[in-house]
Amino acid sequence: MISDNIKEINNRIKLACKKSGRDPSEITLVCVTKGIDPYRISEVFVHGIKDIGENRVKEALKKKPAVLPGAKWHLIGHLQTNKVKDAIEIFGLMHSVDSLELARKIDKEAKKKEKRVDMLIQVNTSGEESKYGIRPEEVSPFLKEASQLTNVKILGLMTITPLTEDPEKVRPYLRLLKEVFESVGNEAIPNVEMKYLSMGMSQDYGVAVEEGANMIRIGSAIFRE
Ligand SMILES: *Cc1c(COP(=O)(O)O)cnc(C)c1O
Repeated sequence: MISDNIKEINNRIKLACKKSGRDPSEITLVCVTKGIDPYRISEVFVHGIKDIGENRVKEALKKKPAVLPGAKWHLIGHLQTNKVKDAIEIFGLMHSVDSLELARKIDKEAKKKEKRVDMLIQVNTSGEESKYGIRPEEVSPFLKEASQLTNVKILGLMTITPLTEDPEKVRPYLRLLKEVFESVGNEAIPNVEMKYLSMGMSQDYGVAVEEGANMIRIGSAIFRE
C-alpha cells in the first residue's frame, strides 16, 4: 500500500535525521515514477508529495498530461542532446547533467525560450564504468566553466550509488559527494549555488540522509505491494 510505504519512509527519514542531528523538513522526497501508471502517480499527491522523478523524456512527455497538475518534474536519467528541447519544457530541475557539451546545449535552448534552467551536476562517485557523471576531481573546474552560461543555474550535485543490499557499502560514496559539495560550496563560484545534494534511493536513503542528502529519489519503496 502506497500510504503504508510512505509512512515507513517518513519514519526512516525521521530516524536518520535524529541520528545525524538534522531536521526532516530539510529533506525533499522525489517520488520516482518510471514505469508507473499516471493514476498511481496522482495517488502520492494525497500524501503531500509533489516532486516527481522520471529518467526518460519520452515517458515524462507521455505521462505528464495524465498526472494531476501542480507537480514539479525532475529529470534523473541521462539526457541526450537531441532531447534537450523537450526536456526544458517539462522538467523543473535536471539532476543528471553530466557533460559541458550538454550544459551548453541546455543553455542554448533555454536562451531561445528566454528561460532559466535549474540543474544539478551528476558525479560518478563510485568510478563504475557503467555510470554517467563527471569525476569528483573534475567538479570544481566544471562548475567554473559552466558558471559562465547565462541561462542555466547550477544548484547542486547528484550521484547514483552502486546497487547493493547493504547500504553501509555505499556510505563512502555518499560521504565523498557531500565532501565535494561542501568544498565547492566554499569556493563560492559566482552563479553557482550548492543548495541541493541529491543522493539516496530505496536501497540507501537512510544512510544518504545521515550523510547529508537533502534530496532523495525513491521509487520502488513507495510503489511496492
Ligand atoms: C530508478 C532511479 C531511482 C529510484 O530507484 P528505486 O530503487 O526504485 O528507489 C533513483 N535515482 C535514479 C537515477 C533512478 O534511475
